[in-house]
Amino acid sequence: MFTKILIANRGEIACRVAATARRLGLKTVAVYSDADAHAKHVMACDEAVHVGGSAPKESYLQWQRIIDAAQATGAQAIHPGYGFLSENEDFAQACADAGLVFIGPPASAIKDMGLKAESKRLMEAAGVPLVPGYHGADQDPALLRREADRIGYPVLIKASAGGGGKGMRAVEKAEDFAAALESCQREAINSFGDDAVLIEKYVQRPRHIEIQVFGDTHGNCVYLFERDCSVQRRHQKVLEEAPAPGMTESLRQQMGETAVAAARAVGYVGAGTVEFIVEQPGGYGLEGADEGFAAGPPPGETAPSGGSGPRAAGSVGARFYFMEMNTRLQVEHPVTEAITGLDLVEWQLRVASGELLPLAQDELDLNGHAIEARICAESPDNDFLPATGQLAVYRKPPAASFEIGEVRVDDGVREGDAISPFYDSMIAKLIVWGSTREEALGRLDAALAEVRIVGVQTNVQFLRRVLATPSFSQARLDTALIQRESARLFNQDPIGRDMAVACAVAQTVLAERDAEGHDPFSRTDGFRLHGVASRRIDLAYAGQPVVAKLRYLHDGLQLKVDEGEAAPLSVARQPDGRIDVRYAGRRQVVQVFRRGEALHVFGGAGAAAITELDVLSHSGEGAGEAGGLTAPMPGKVVSIAVKAGDKVNKGQAVAVMEAMKMEHTIAAPRDGVVGEVLYAPGDQVAEGAELLRLGATDK
Ligand code: ADP
Ligand code: ADP
Ligand code: MG
Repeated sequence: MFTKILIANRGEIACRVAATARRLGLKTVAVYSDADAHAKHVMACDEAVHVGGSAPKESYLQWQRIIDAAQATGAQAIHPGYGFLSENEDFAQACADAGLVFIGPPASAIKDMGLKAESKRLMEAAGVPLVPGYHGADQDPALLRREADRIGYPVLIKASAGGGGKGMRAVEKAEDFAAALESCQREAINSFGDDAVLIEKYVQRPRHIEIQVFGDTHGNCVYLFERDCSVQRRHQKVLEEAPAPGMTESLRQQMGETAVAAARAVGYVGAGTVEFIVEQPGGYGLEGADEGFAAGPPPGETAPSGGSGPRAAGSVGARFYFMEMNTRLQVEHPVTEAITGLDLVEWQLRVASGELLPLAQDELDLNGHAIEARICAESPDNDFLPATGQLAVYRKPPAASFEIGEVRVDDGVREGDAISPFYDSMIAKLIVWGSTREEALGRLDAALAEVRIVGVQTNVQFLRRVLATPSFSQARLDTALIQRESARLFNQDPIGRDMAVACAVAQTVLAERDAEGHDPFSRTDGFRLHGVASRRIDLAYAGQPVVAKLRYLHDGLQLKVDEGEAAPLSVARQPDGRIDVRYAGRRQVVQVFRRGEALHVFGGAGAAAITELDVLSHSGEGAGEAGGLTAPMPGKVVSIAVKAGDKVNKGQAVAVMEAMKMEHTIAAPRDGVVGEVLYAPGDQVAEGAELLRLGATDK
């Protein structure tokens, strides 16, 4: 075994590798970019070497500097993690040439599996079932079009060098083929520097089921069962689970053995994943898939000139086809660890140092069910647009980190860290294990409900909604699940405006009670703040201004939201710090975090954000010399609450803007009458731009 390794990556995977290395008594060397000088992965390792600027190509992709760093620190091996250099055959070769062990497959295997078209030619020769399609070298557009017609629409055009869900175009009908081909080639050359494409039949109701394989340098190769990664957005994984729901013993064995054959065909060593696409023509389920290829087409009977025809004729059941092989450890490897009880990074280190695989195929077993959720900085309601920002609040459920447990969190960030635009948007992975799928699902939802992130938009609540869909909970899986269930997934408001307002008001009331020195635990009666019996609080919710009117009655609080009915509000802080809010016949136990003007409410039902309008912080600053009202920062106009001719009072919310992923309410700096409104919702405005004219009130 090695005594010191260098980890050529960042974030959660660098921390993940460091955790196993530490457990095995190995020293670790981190590399870092400018942006990552104080990153968690740097602290997780024994030593660290700065390798350049923040952009990946200036640092994490600078392989000569990384090799130099390994040599300078006396590391014997380099773990590439995933992404970055992990599937770069030149880097693997350069490591070998420098006398360092690349913890991964031989450069030749990376090359063989690197391009989708070449790998398909190799797999075809090895008797691995392929999606009917064309993966030849001839790229004549007329030929490609003829091949697409032969395959039959819909087809999928894929960049041979593609990855990460990029470089794919689905084509519904022949007339659209030429335009789709051009756009796919353009994206391929821009993103991957290679415009070669292949064409596949667009599989109906597909499931993505992949097999974890492991080879050693002594010629052994095993499979560690499957993972179902069908729940995807933009062809990228969102939830991953093991085992695949509905998997039968015989199909598992067939897919496993096919994956091992694929790995053996390229002399595979280390951890790898063979991805299959499974067609479910008859509905949702894997029935019949184990018959589909039982006989297997005799080699040579496949279509000539790089084409392959439909196989397993006569079967109406599910069928599996090879899609690609990822020659590295996969993001979702923890679900396999959870059901096998094995540490795959430990296996990688043992195999790379020349040891035999720790277990043989018949010694491997799976137990229970595991699900992983990728927590990403993104806005699901905004087409999953990636988000950046600072993790002002980052709280995780009680969980193990980087080790198998009922709840496990793998991450590479701490509270206060920034999610920068330089790297990918994954914040953390939440992995749960249960004795059954149902138990795992319940545990995952409970764990997600405990996540608190403020400062960066995330998909946490979206993930909870996906778990709750009938399709996911009943395991009716396919890659279109998110689209199919979209009505339940997007633009949801589980807490609701009035309850969210009640929670925000509750937080304000408690904060004031604390400030006034009242015992916050025992007082639930109404009380008078500075002797006022009622007050108005201006808020904004989902871009719309809301007025909350709070009255302090002798027997408690009463709250009226906009023009709704006034109803009793009861507020109590629990010993764990959560707030028990009862309003208008509903009860929520929530945690509320304040960041600037924004109040972030987290409860069992979901999360909500409310902006509290602090009149003082806006008055004056928005008042232009000409008597107008200006934008305090560059951003987008979300809503305008007034129209020309409206009378406004000082402090009244007149507009809501969005900037840096946060909503800001703009208040009238003084009493007046609205003149011309100069921008509309959706408009982008510069800092200092006049939003509307405000004239004097004529008495
Ligand atoms: P998977 O099939 O495991 O999702 P992908 O091919 O989509 O793999 O990419 C592998 C992973 O590598 C991504 O999920 C991402 O987390 C990571 N990755 C890819 N590119 C980068 C990058 N530029 N910076 C950081 N991580 C990256
Ligand atoms: P990448 O290298 O980007 O991971 P893959 O070839 O693995 O590309 O495909 C990514 C995803 O695209 C799959 O998980 C699946 O959801 C979808 N996909 C790929 N091929 C097909 C196909 N022939 N028919 C339908 N969906 C497909
Ligand atoms: Mg893939």
